[in-house]
Amino acid sequence: MFQLPDLTTTTLALLDATDPLAAKREEFVLPKDTIYLDGNSLGAMPKVAALRANQVLTEQWSQDLIKSWNNHNWIDLPHTVGEKIAPLLGAAPGQVICCDSTSVNLFKVLSCAMLMQPGRSKILSQAGNFPTDLYMVQGLASLLGEQNCQLVLVDDSEDPDALERAITAEIAVLLLTQVDFRSGRLLDMQRLTALAHAQGVLVIWDLAHSAGALPIELDAWQVDFAVGCGYKYLNGGPGAPAFLYAASRHHTHLTQPLTGWMGHQAPFSFTTTYQKAPGIAQFLSGTPAIIAMSVLDAALTVFADITMQDVRYKSLALSHCFHQLVEQQPALASLNLITPLQPHARGSQLAYQHPQAYALCQALIKRGVIADFRAPNILRLGFTPLYLRYADMGNAVAILADIMDSQEYLKPEYAVKQKVT
Ligand SMILES: *Cc1c(COP(=O)(O)O)cnc(C)c1O
Repeated sequence: MFQLPDLTTTTLALLDATDPLAAKREEFVLPKDTIYLDGNSLGAMPKVAALRANQVLTEQWSQDLIKSWNNHNWIDLPHTVGEKIAPLLGAAPGQVICCDSTSVNLFKVLSCAMLMQPGRSKILSQAGNFPTDLYMVQGLASLLGEQNCQLVLVDDSEDPDALERAITAEIAVLLLTQVDFRSGRLLDMQRLTALAHAQGVLVIWDLAHSAGALPIELDAWQVDFAVGCGYKYLNGGPGAPAFLYAASRHHTHLTQPLTGWMGHQAPFSFTTTYQKAPGIAQFLSGTPAIIAMSVLDAALTVFADITMQDVRYKSLALSHCFHQLVEQQPALASLNLITPLQPHARGSQLAYQHPQAYALCQALIKRGVIADFRAPNILRLGFTPLYLRYADMGNAVAILADIMDSQEYLKPEYAVKQKVT
């Protein structure tokens, strides 16, 4: 599929000319002279997002004030947005809701899942999982007590099969992130979910680096719960609200702990005792952040007329081109790819180890190629098919090679650590 022996500018231009997603770039605002390889951390801004933000402020909030909850359907926004995300996850209606942050939503589904597993106390995850996922388990454990909740970590960095071996009938809940935030390794969600279920284990998938980047089949693969971010590949803006998926087969016997009024079956009856709403609404807690959620709602329209198969194809093709170009550059021989190269085993990013990864990243940013750094030594590049061109791959690698060749990255200014890397 990706046999592109000698990647030249002409080949890349040809790929752009035949790219079915090429026109999508026009739907985004992108700064001049910038190649944005960090859409996995913060997606670029769709033009409709700015229009919508403006509309919510100048037409809705300012003019219609509190009437907007009804007149502009603010009150339904968590559902409206959830239903827009659902097809990207392979979820039938009524199972995805938009609310809170990924961290908070993790707490809700972790609690639900643990309560469904009396007699089992272990939550299994990978040592390399995103820290917030592990921290939320630690917080829940401190509440439930050691005898009722323990985090069990498997270090599978050297032995990829270690994870599967750790899934036993002792485990209550398996908590995994589909695409590793450092390495970009993609786990087999279908297989791991089936293995877990065979042992009576419930599964929670964190889709932070997969929603909007690759096709997912939560329903078909019988996933129990999932969470993910609105601001990464879904382009919902900085700190955009997150999403939560709970399979409908579980809805009647769930108890989530953050029982705020928005998750009550009749919030405006103002009764003293909590009674959970039916269906996915039971996962709401407090009042939704309408401005932020409206922006995400608008941003999601970018996905309305494309297939996740096309997105996935281009994501793999872009990253394949990038790596092949890196390999063609003798100056870049010191970069060590830690992302698995097989298409079925990687997400939409490439991660290179280099002792000077931080400085390289800073020098790249200075030259208009925006990537990020993950401690201790990873240069991470995200490939967002909606607004990147194949030609960008050629230019980005040329700039990277120039920085390496000229040793520009050794300038002292690039060693200064910023708060956000
Ligand atoms: C980005 C990311 C998060 C972020 O969680 P927030 O609550 O939005 O800060 C969580 N999990 C993973 C795997 C991530 O990559």
